[in-house]
Amino acid sequence: MGLIKLIILIILVVACLTLWQRIKAWQAANQKPPADPVEPQLMVCCKQCQVHLPQDQALQSGKHWYCCREHRDADHD
Ligand SMILES: [Zn+2]
Repeated sequence: MGLIKLIILIILVVACLTLWQRIKAWQAANQKPPADPVEPQLMVCCKQCQVHLPQDQALQSGKHWYCCREHRDADHD
């Protein structure tokens, strides 16, 4: 029966194509560049002059933050 073989062949080809498309879609979904989360910059306030600046540029003394060494040293609380 050549017809049954032909039908089986068509089913196999369709199955392979479907699988291939799924693999391609899966790969495309996984190759998306990871979203670069913009980390919110933590701002602190200088105790001496009340200027706001990023925490990584501020100077800490105890639980207070200062914009510069002069303000940190000038504060004697
Ligand atoms: Zn200051």
